[in-house]
Amino acid sequence: MGSVKTLETEVCILGGGPAGMVLANLLHEENVSCVVVEKLDPESIKAEGRAGIIEWTTVEALQQHGLAEQMLSDHRTQGQCEFRTPEWTFMLDYASLNGGKVHTVYPQTDLVYDLSNVFEQRNGQALYRIEGQSIEQSNEGVTLNCVQADGEQLTIHASFLVGCDGGRGLSKRAIPKEAVRVYHQAHNIHWIAILAQAKPYFPYTIYAMHPDGMAAFLMRNDSVCRYYLQIDGDDDLENWNEDRIWATLEQRFFMGNKNLHRGNIFKINKMSLRSLVTDPMRYQRIFLAGDAAHLIPPTGAKGMNLAIHDVLVLAELLIDHHHGKIDSGDLDLYSKKRLPLIWKAQNFSLQLMNMIHKHPSDFDQELWMSKMKQLQTSPAFATDFSIDYVGIL
Ligand SMILES: Cc1cc2nc3c(=O)[nH]c(=O)nc-3n(C[C@H](O)[C@H](O)[C@H](O)COP(=O)(O)OP(=O)(O)OC[C@H]3O[C@@H](n4cnc5c(N)ncnc54)[C@H](O)[C@@H]3O)c2cc1C
Repeated sequence: MGSVKTLETEVCILGGGPAGMVLANLLHEENVSCVVVEKLDPESIKAEGRAGIIEWTTVEALQQHGLAEQMLSDHRTQGQCEFRTPEWTFMLDYASLNGGKVHTVYPQTDLVYDLSNVFEQRNGQALYRIEGQSIEQSNEGVTLNCVQADGEQLTIHASFLVGCDGGRGLSKRAIPKEAVRVYHQAHNIHWIAILAQAKPYFPYTIYAMHPDGMAAFLMRNDSVCRYYLQIDGDDDLENWNEDRIWATLEQRFFMGNKNLHRGNIFKINKMSLRSLVTDPMRYQRIFLAGDAAHLIPPTGAKGMNLAIHDVLVLAELLIDHHHGKIDSGDLDLYSKKRLPLIWKAQNFSLQLMNMIHKHPSDFDQELWMSKMKQLQTSPAFATDFSIDYVGIL
């Protein structure tokens, strides 16, 4: 084995997803040295496929830093969504209820690809196909030990490490259990999440509340659609071939004899919805951001937006620390500023999740249907919902 290569930097960013790539661009813009370590290469990240609904506050912030150019030349906007049951349909014109704010529809993977390109053009240092394997902290700094795709070892010494490595990442495991509190809840709601190469049939998000379970459609772009189907926890993906998926979607969207624009299903996962919040999102020299710090059911399309807002706050603090304007203790402000908004987003997403799903108990079913009815009958609730739906403030 050859000698271990080493690198020195101020901020080591573990993970090159939305949180990692936004943070890297912001720090680099202000000459704070940083290195991104990402186990995949940009093309493989692009092939992943996750979020696609972006809040206006996220778009505005990215725009301010010159990070939204490609997205804004190639996006859609959405200001309405529809709820369906066997008895009624209801269109929520959330843009008109919240003062004209809309969602931007653009695939997360394209956004990450764009952010990586901008970072590269600005001569930022992103190391792809390198996996972080262990993290050590001392009074002097933090060390990330990595292995490259060719098996070579790499060690990165930094003043701080920001774990942007997602829900199953290494960084959260480097924090002793007793140093933070982790709030976690599993929801006993299970989905198959589908990405299909198909023309959108609907012009906006549809949430259908069928007696067999929820179905949802979320726009991605002109040729890719995201669908979700609620399934039983003990159901398996093997039971779902393409024909069954399309037929079930059409049935749950109450389409009668009409068909969706069917196409190749290129990604399908089974997901169990859960929520998690880590408090605080810092342990000494390690910070957690995005899914590494919190998980949220995708119903409200909040996860990527939260991830980006985390690093907007953290970048500002790290930049101030770099310029000597604040000391290390002041970096605790990161958790203090972010956690109330993260809980607010959890609240919104759980409420929407409960309103649209089939529940095992009749009591819960009626309880949440009553909330759904409020959306149609209470202008005050519909306005609050519309404001939070399009951007947690
Ligand atoms: C089906 C689905 C739909 C969603 N829809 C939406 C939506 O519409 N809107 C929304 O806001 N959110 C949505 N989300 C949530 C959103 O995708 C996540 O919240 C978002 O990806 C979090 O970004 P992140 O940067 O924190 O983590 P990630 O995107 O998970 O990125 C982590 C990165 O770290 C890398 N990594 C991990 N471990 C290591 C390691 N040891 N070494 C090196 N690299 C490593 C990974 O390869 C990955 O690239 C959805 C999620 C799912 C699953």
